[in-house]
Amino acid sequence: MTSGGDRLAEPARTVLVLGGTGEARELARRAAPLARVVSSLAGRVASPRLPEGEVRVGGFGGVAGLVAYLRAERVAAVVDATHPFADRITANALAATAEAGVPLLVLRRPGWAERAGDRWTWVDSVAEAARVVGGRRAFVTTGRDGLGAFAAGVARTVDPPAGPTALEVVLARGPYDVDGELALMRRHAVEVLVTKDSGGDMTAAKLVAARALGLPVVVVRRPPAPAAPTVATVDAALTWLGSGAGGAQDG
Ligand code: NAP
Repeated sequence: MTSGGDRLAEPARTVLVLGGTGEARELARRAAPLARVVSSLAGRVASPRLPEGEVRVGGFGGVAGLVAYLRAERVAAVVDATHPFADRITANALAATAEAGVPLLVLRRPGWAERAGDRWTWVDSVAEAARVVGGRRAFVTTGRDGLGAFAAGVARTVDPPAGPTALEVVLARGPYDVDGELALMRRHAVEVLVTKDSGGDMTAAKLVAARALGLPVVVVRRPPAPAAPTVATVDAALTWLGSGAGGAQDG
């Protein structure tokens, strides 16, 4: 017998994947042979793309609720694979795993980088983006919140905007291709693109289209990265899980 503290010797570990991203879905699918995987979604999107396997939906009730969940489900490791802008659940995961003594790995795709020919302005919030845009016709892709601050153009959201907006609204969900983005930007006579620095391939075509059209882009910076071991790929997260679900802390 090994001691209870020896995680490498424990069978049938439960891994909690905090999700809401394509990477989280891929991780849930590929980690299934390694552990019991439970994916958690916030329940914000009306009809989310569901990961394979066990899924729970809705907030935990802050740090205390998440600590209680980790204990009740005997969670052996948490992978925070939430969107880079979902900073409250990430802060909660950091605090709750520390309190419950559960290893935490953050899976974050890298941000986007400016290329030759790009005209990007970095801002700290959607509200600041709206101020930079001013009266220009914008293509706003920052989600359903904060759209009331923009004067003209088009917003693309998964669910309808959270409040009133002067923008036309296109309801859609990626991935998108460059031809489609070019057509949308031309159709709406877009003068400036507004995006979060989400990173990844699923929504990057708008940046290629903006470059091709010579349009400026206003990019909302990510919130600060959490102080936790972090990897950029699903492969690296699987390696971490395969090494004992938190046995490796070097990310
Ligand atoms: P957030 O502001 O960081 O979190 C707000 C609250 O929602 C959290 O305190 C937590 O409630 C609950 N929550 C968030 N993610 C959760 C999860 N995966 N499982 C269970 N509860 C969760 O989050 P958000 O920015 O609204 O994003 C919500 C979800 O949408 C996340 O899963 C994220 O990955 C996904 N998403 C976000 C964006 C974005 O731009 N923010 C874009 C694409 C997808 P309790 O405190 O009650 O536990």
